[in-house]
Amino acid sequence: MSLAQGRTHLATPGPSIIPDKVLEAMHRAAPNIYEGEIIEITESVLKDLTSFAKTSGDAILYVANGHGAWEAAVANLFDPGDTVLVMATGQFGLGWADLCKKMNLNVILVDFGFEKSVDHEKLTTTLKNDPYYKIKGIFTVQTDTASSVLNNIKSIAHTIDTCNHPALFLVDSIACFGCDRFEMDEWGVDIMVTACQKGLMTPPGISYCFVGNKAKKLSKLKINVPPYWDWKPRMNPKIFYERFFGTAPTHHIFGQRAALDMMISEGRENIFRRHKVLAGAVWAALEKWGEENTIKPNIKKQMQRSTAVTTVRADGYDLTPLRQWLELNTGLVLGIGLGFSGSKYLDGKSVFRIAHMGHLNPVMLLGALTSIEAGFLACKIPYGKGGAGASAQFIARNAY
Ligand SMILES: *Cc1c(COP(=O)(O)O)cnc(C)c1O
Repeated sequence: MSLAQGRTHLATPGPSIIPDKVLEAMHRAAPNIYEGEIIEITESVLKDLTSFAKTSGDAILYVANGHGAWEAAVANLFDPGDTVLVMATGQFGLGWADLCKKMNLNVILVDFGFEKSVDHEKLTTTLKNDPYYKIKGIFTVQTDTASSVLNNIKSIAHTIDTCNHPALFLVDSIACFGCDRFEMDEWGVDIMVTACQKGLMTPPGISYCFVGNKAKKLSKLKINVPPYWDWKPRMNPKIFYERFFGTAPTHHIFGQRAALDMMISEGRENIFRRHKVLAGAVWAALEKWGEENTIKPNIKKQMQRSTAVTTVRADGYDLTPLRQWLELNTGLVLGIGLGFSGSKYLDGKSVFRIAHMGHLNPVMLLGALTSIEAGFLACKIPYGKGGAGASAQFIARNAY
């Protein structure tokens, strides 16, 4: 038997926990897709998303997961043989680079490993070594979900600007859009891609490309774009169907609308603040747990940590039994270690990830953290006592 009756708690960094309001909005008969409310709802979703991303550019919706939005961005802007720079800080940066290679781009991969953010000096030297501007695009990930690093997109954009380099700046904000702050136009981001199943709290299935004005102009000159990915007709549809190049993902749109309604009612700044406080509660627990020199956050510097997800390590320990114990006995589902290789990380088994993105409040998070502490004890993993208490204190100090 198991104690884990009641609701399970999904703490994987995507898909995230889906609010009942989103599920309820999706539980309805299919609408007419040729006229009526689905058209207005779609337009309102795209409008609210661009305003959350703080851009005057366009949001393009694809019936695809995040990988689809990656491919769409590349297909609309680059040709085989074009040179691009990918700055990777975890598995997802490496994944985007790999996709570019498969699309026959010439990829300069700068790999910063899994434990730190993009290094500006390295970026500067790479751009200075490109006097003829062969590099057409600079790619990075805001929060790499594998390492849980947070890259400072504003300052990366500033560095690119300082180098006077004309390349487009493309950012994957799939993990943390709706959690970590993102200000597309002011920061100087040309393309941002995201998906609906993380901070946007909707079941996996749709993803978005946000296209700024510079990227929009360049993409207009590109002719041989595969028809499904081509965002030009999607940007200015003459008929509604062109928004999707096919049937609208009706129920996903209803779900996304409900999620955005919740986000609007909470308020953008409050959302960022809540994620900061919830992440801070996780880090407070980690600090205590680390006192036995086994458990530690993967990203040392707080400034470089995402408020959407935290990657935790116990180097040399196999944490598979911990994850299994938690799932069986408490109903908590943690994320696995993704992309980590080597004996230090026991090829990913010494790593777990806890998501704190989207639909989450202190009672859910404190339950998860206290359960993890129970798991350490049950699985005989050395940990400093008092972690859950420390996160409770952090919540108390930072509540409204
Ligand atoms: C989840 C995620 C992806 C991939 O999204 P899928 O929907 O699984 O294709 C890409 N990048 C980041 C940063 C992610 O968190």
